[in-house]
Amino acid sequence: MDKSGNIHIKPDNDAERVAALERYQIAGSERETAFDSICRLACELFAVPISHISFLDAETEHIKADVGLGGVERLGRAEGFCTLALLQPEIMLIEDAREHHILASHPYVTGEIMIRFYAAAPVITPDGYIIGTLCLIDQMPRGLTGKEQELLQHLAKVVMEQTELRNDNINLISQRDKFIEIASHEMRTPLTALKAAAQLLGLKHADDDALIAQVNKSVQKLSGLANDMFDSIRLQEHTLDLKRSSTNLKIIVDSSRDHIRLSAKKELIIEGDLNIKITADPEKIERVLINLIQNAVKYATGSTITLRTDKLPGFVKVTVNDLGPGIAPDKLPHIFRRYYRSDPSGIQTGLGLGLYIAAEIIKQHGGEIGVNSAQGQGSSFWFTLPVSI
Ligand code: ADP
Repeated sequence: MDKSGNIHIKPDNDAERVAALERYQIAGSERETAFDSICRLACELFAVPISHISFLDAETEHIKADVGLGGVERLGRAEGFCTLALLQPEIMLIEDAREHHILASHPYVTGEIMIRFYAAAPVITPDGYIIGTLCLIDQMPRGLTGKEQELLQHLAKVVMEQTELRNDNINLISQRDKFIEIASHEMRTPLTALKAAAQLLGLKHADDDALIAQVNKSVQKLSGLANDMFDSIRLQEHTLDLKRSSTNLKIIVDSSRDHIRLSAKKELIIEGDLNIKITADPEKIERVLINLIQNAVKYATGSTITLRTDKLPGFVKVTVNDLGPGIAPDKLPHIFRRYYRSDPSGIQTGLGLGLYIAAEIIKQHGGEIGVNSAQGQGSSFWFTLPVSI
């Protein structure tokens, strides 16, 4: 330990250890409830006021979860005690840090934090690298029975299992995204050909209206799905370009309405002033509107859908209201998430992308999006857009 209390001992295999940690994509990641729960459980089980889970790379200790540390996210690797716990696969147990040959004069012991008891179980990968720690801390000296030490090691194994599950999940999502990107890209060329062929068919066989309309509807649905898939990846990578121009909300609403009439026999009532100038990508805003109205058509039982505009200072608020079943309160917070479907086993099919895309488009325009809904009382999806002066 140097004069400022930094501990500079590293295991011989530190570079390989750090490489193993990087495989798990966890150092520096956001907090996650599963890890917080393990810390809470540790505090309860061992009756300590402080517990934390840390992952340590070459220079930094990343605190993934904690109870009692006030949510601190990281510290220099040499600053804390955990760097010592990386040196051995067994539990590092300090019953009273004032009596420890290295740590007695450490600022965490002599200063305000007043650490006395410290126990760290290493988090070990299946191939044997110590990537992090599950720690217990108390300001009173104390010990751990053999049974308690075993239990702490078990909990550290749970941390490792959770880390692996989390990583498998990240990899699966990335594979799914890759697949969706390739599939939607491959669908584009044949879809363009199909659209052109359907148009030609319409010209040649104008007498068979119903059949042509059916073909057009299916092509349109397929294009919509392919576009949603394609754009959801672009949005995720922040590469969806907005083509902003000065336009009028009325033009966008009228054009969206034309699209809706194709597929629904429901009444769309417009309320409020539509004659509002906005600077926006009209195609993208139209897409948001079509999505909200189509969802109202799809999920609502009533025959009336209302689109209302309200002027707010510097913004216009557009609300699409339906008289459908509404959305359960526990589902509402997730409704704009990618691939989220509130009733995946229901009769209505979909990819769960429409609202995610709508939300991203509105956010990129500097507006907000939200929903008010109560079960059995319909839903009001709304968004705001800055108005042009
Ligand atoms: P999709 O319709 O393809 O499932 P969306 O992102 O458009 O995807 O919608 C996500 C989920 O939100 C839907 O699966 C549906 O359960 C719910 N939802 C959307 N709009 C409404 C609505 N107007 N009424 C009730 N539920 C809705």
